[in-house]
Amino acid sequence: MHEFSIVSSLMNLIEDYARQYGAKKVTKVVVGVGRLSGIEPDLLQLAFDTFKEKTICEEAELVIEMEDLKIQCRDCGKTSTMGEKLSRKCPNCGSLNTEIIGGQELYLKSLEMESDD
Ligand SMILES: [Zn+2]
Repeated sequence: MHEFSIVSSLMNLIEDYARQYGAKKVTKVVVGVGRLSGIEPDLLQLAFDTFKEKTICEEAELVIEMEDLKIQCRDCGKTSTMGEKLSRKCPNCGSLNTEIIGGQELYLKSLEMESDD
């Protein structure tokens, strides 16, 4: 499943951060998930809950924030947030000559950790 490999690399990233900051556990993980990423939030949650056992994230809560599609128009230069609508058409000038600049991927937004001091 796609979501399991995503969570697996997410866990590696989190463990790196935790080590770097000397944290002994992670209490909260916030991720942004693009609406175009093809990631199912329910499956992501399930994968996280499966993977987190016996890791530094064992007691962590996963918060998933859906990110809207963002496009930038090559004709008028305007950046637009498309909301629920998965369209690549520029709302400003109607051009289809646009570039997707957000809402396609998953990224780590923030972490809450606890350390000894
Ligand atoms: Zn435009």
